[in-house]
Amino acid sequence: MNLVKKFIINKIILSLIFLSGCTFFNKTNKNKEVIKNMSEHKKTIFTFLSAPGGGKGTLAQKAIDKLNFIVLSTGDLFRQYIANSTNIGLELKKYMDKGELVPDELVISMVKEWLLSIKDSDKPIILDGFPRTSVQAKKLIELLQKNLPEFGFRVIKLETPQEEITERLINRRVCPNKECQAVYNTSMPEITEGKCLKCDTQLIQRADDKPEIIKERFDVYYKNEKELINAYESEGIDIETINVSKKTPNTILQNFTDIL
Ligand SMILES: [Zn+2]
Repeated sequence: MNLVKKFIINKIILSLIFLSGCTFFNKTNKNKEVIKNMSEHKKTIFTFLSAPGGGKGTLAQKAIDKLNFIVLSTGDLFRQYIANSTNIGLELKKYMDKGELVPDELVISMVKEWLLSIKDSDKPIILDGFPRTSVQAKKLIELLQKNLPEFGFRVIKLETPQEEITERLINRRVCPNKECQAVYNTSMPEITEGKCLKCDTQLIQRADDKPEIIKERFDVYYKNEKELINAYESEGIDIETINVSKKTPNTILQNFTDIL
């Protein structure tokens, strides 16, 4: 009997030590715990990190078609605000007309309104083109914790070697017909004539798909990505990675589905 008692007392002491350790752990990883807990129970917001041409647009489209996601494109959101001529829309238009960057505060207030408007929907969400800066990332996390605790937040990095994306971009051809805008790759045998298969317009290479411009775009992108990752990590958020190298859109979708 004594041995059993001793065993139980030891267990209790060990549990107490363990619990106090957990409290310490919870304090140091406060944001991470809140965000993880949210994602276990309720709706989740995803954001993707991927270099230009790294496949996030394709995956977002697949997630809408096959997984019933909602995608918020900040570009579309901006256009909608301007079209509706709200106060925010008018302010936004001033920056866009001057070709200036839209301030983080303004972007976050639009995203906030949008998130509040769809908060009763059960669909998971992808934020496309947001957060774009470390300030936006921090503000979004603060917003979720304060105003939208039912939302979880996950950051998914789509990884592809830079050379692979460069090659894909150099070989990309687009249809300049505004009504069509189909996208092709020079490796597709059916476009040997250089004409759009849908509308017969002569295909072109986008100006920013030229090698020297691509390199500049990458440099800018990776610098920004590093800042974003630092911001997420300082908020205690894990960066989850999907390797998308040489994978078809369907396989990438499958890989994404596997981690949901
Ligand atoms: Zn076309």
